[in-house]
Amino acid sequence: MDIIFDLIEKERQRQSHGLELIASENFVSENVMKAMGSVLTNKYAEGYPGKRYYGGCEVVDEVETLAIERAKALFGVDYVNVQPHSGSQANAAVYLAVLKPGDKIMGMDLSMGGHLTHGSGVNFSGIQYQVVSYGVEKETGLIDYNQMREVALRERPKMMIAGFSAYSRDLDYAKYREIADEIGATLWADIAHPAGLVAKGLLNNPFEHCHIVTTTTHKTLRGPRGGMIMMGKDFENTYGHKTPKGETKMMSQVLDGAVFPGIQGGPLEHVIAGKAVAFGEALDDQFLTYAKQVQSNAKALAKAMIDRGFDIVSGGTDNHLMLVDLRNKNVNGKETEKALVLADITCNKNMVPFDDKSPFTTSGIRFGTAAITTRGLKENDMDTIAGFVSEVVDNIKNEEVITSVRKKVNELMEGKALFNY
Ligand code: PLP
Repeated sequence: MDIIFDLIEKERQRQSHGLELIASENFVSENVMKAMGSVLTNKYAEGYPGKRYYGGCEVVDEVETLAIERAKALFGVDYVNVQPHSGSQANAAVYLAVLKPGDKIMGMDLSMGGHLTHGSGVNFSGIQYQVVSYGVEKETGLIDYNQMREVALRERPKMMIAGFSAYSRDLDYAKYREIADEIGATLWADIAHPAGLVAKGLLNNPFEHCHIVTTTTHKTLRGPRGGMIMMGKDFENTYGHKTPKGETKMMSQVLDGAVFPGIQGGPLEHVIAGKAVAFGEALDDQFLTYAKQVQSNAKALAKAMIDRGFDIVSGGTDNHLMLVDLRNKNVNGKETEKALVLADITCNKNMVPFDDKSPFTTSGIRFGTAAITTRGLKENDMDTIAGFVSEVVDNIKNEEVITSVRKKVNELMEGKALFNY
């Protein structure tokens, strides 16, 4: 047997024994896993259902069409492209569809909670486009919509991005749209993180206000790793887009062309099948129970952390994640991430707003509850977890204490399956 399978088993053990607090991770169902490990991986299918550049696509056409139809039903939208290989690919396609290189964009600053693809200098978005940013207020940790408007009116970006990787509050999409309309900008929402909660109506609906919406499929949506592009009702038909050649096209056509042949070749039909399975699961009422539990667990974890003297940016959470500012504990994000890993608790170091440390060190860590909720943990477990974290942080150099916390973590996760539905 190839050694790779030993490593896969090792990783399965690691995932089973540990507490997964990485906000962008989750555990897919056995059916999603089966779809991804299927013969569909053998198939080339450049193009779209009914318009392929390869023969033998009849079956994958049905698979992709089902994925599209289920995603439309799940989010209540008119247009979906399920082909982006990742969230970053979905976002790259939006840039290609809407902008010319050198155009100006406005996104949330990476150090304030934005994503790399929202204009970071080390990413194509910051390399190929001019970037202006918005951020959060120092006192409250909440998005500063006044500053956003001021910068937008002064800088007049062609596209505004509503989205984040590390912001624990809901977004006021109507406010974004008001500002975008004042300057004639395209408004794009990247809901990669809260997509599962958005799908079940637990957070504000971006589709009423945003021209384009992208997401990953593997975070709160609990599908395979991948990306997706959507448009809210009406925008597909009403939003005429001028291509660089000066033709006016439907935005849906432009977005499809931006994904393929714009930035990708053959779609990953095995992953698209996994997306279809996950969307089917998310359409079920059980997923509403799950999504509500994710949100309740996040609130309970934030409260339990605050009760133990931790500083949570903005004082709490509306979604599945939170940022812990460790400065009052005299430890940094890097050493905390490392110590927690030794206790079988995984999370990631993360900059906090107005951080004085580098992205490699950071003053914070980010927690999310999507994965532990799939494992079956409830509100009362959140207090236990905050206790584990507190013990590790208070004894960051004490191997004995950290080993004892690891034992307690392993006990808590004992018998909790990875595939829970
Ligand atoms: N957009 C946001 C807001 C994200 O948080 C992420 C990933 O964390 C992405 C896009 C990129 O997704 P991927 O890692 O699939 O490229």
